[in-house]
Amino acid sequence: MGTTTAVYDAVQHGKPLVSRVITITGQAVAHPQNLEARIGTPFADLLEYCGLSEQHLARLIVGGPMMGLTIENPQIPMIKTSNCLIAGSINEFPAQPPAQACIRCGMCEQVCPVELLPQQLHWFAKGREFEKAKHHNLFDCIECGACSYVCPSNIPLVQYYRFAKGEIRKEDAEQRKADHARLRFEARQARQEQEQLEKELRRKARAEEAAKNQAAKRDAVITKQASSTVESSEPDLKQLKTNAAVARTKLKKAEKALSNAQAKDWTESMLCRKRLISYRPSLTPQPRLTNRHSRHLLHRQRRL
Ligand code: SF4
Ligand code: SF4
Repeated sequence: MGTTTAVYDAVQHGKPLVSRVITITGQAVAHPQNLEARIGTPFADLLEYCGLSEQHLARLIVGGPMMGLTIENPQIPMIKTSNCLIAGSINEFPAQPPAQACIRCGMCEQVCPVELLPQQLHWFAKGREFEKAKHHNLFDCIECGACSYVCPSNIPLVQYYRFAKGEIRKEDAEQRKADHARLRFEARQARQEQEQLEKELRRKARAEEAAKNQAAKRDAVITKQASSTVESSEPDLKQLKTNAAVARTKLKKAEKALSNAQAKDWTESMLCRKRLISYRPSLTPQPRLTNRHSRHLLHRQRRL
């Protein structure tokens, strides 16, 4: 009923589940009634509102008389599944006789609405053989309490089932935690391997880039040396051309000087010849020439 009301409020009015209707009953309260209380309200406040009599209270049960849980502390807050709170007197819940050993009567099996084997589940839960209890469909148990109610040995069977379920849930949670840790470890290892691989690839790329740069620098140096060799040979060629031009100029000057000298010699020889001619027909006595003079004159005449 409370769940249906909560669904209606959520769908029709958009109201979240912040409160629910809870039944406060039992012979230990003066005014048993249904209350709409906010989730989180301590049970002690609800019991005080309904007039709790502490001296008549024997057991405080959250839930129904068959499936409810006995609580010791009334300060526990209500939750969204708290639908009933029973403040039972000693007359309603007399003290349970001590549990006896299972006699395998099979009465629990006969009343189980889910057709389980309550005595077998009890056996496995007591021996902490939780895997076997799981295989016997422990989690199909709806904890109705019928088996405990009919048990002639007064065995709190439902308590055993709840204990076994709690232990199995705890083991499953630990297993999930271990699996999650293992997955995280494997993911971390894979990530580290990936990072190492990427690092290695980057290192190789840097090495290749450095090798390329080195080769480019070497080529640049070789090209520079070749160009400097060409440039250094060009001045030699220019120098040779310049020297050739100077030599030609000097040759021209020498040829000109030679021609001038030859012209000068010719002029002088012509003057000498004139002088000789002028001397030859004269009546004046000829100077006496020595052999040396005569050879010299003869030589110059031949040259002219
Ligand atoms: S408490 Fe579980 S095992 Fe016992 S009768 Fe109910 S459903 Fe069956
Ligand atoms: S009813 Fe009790 S005694 Fe009988 S078989 Fe079940 S657990 Fe055992």
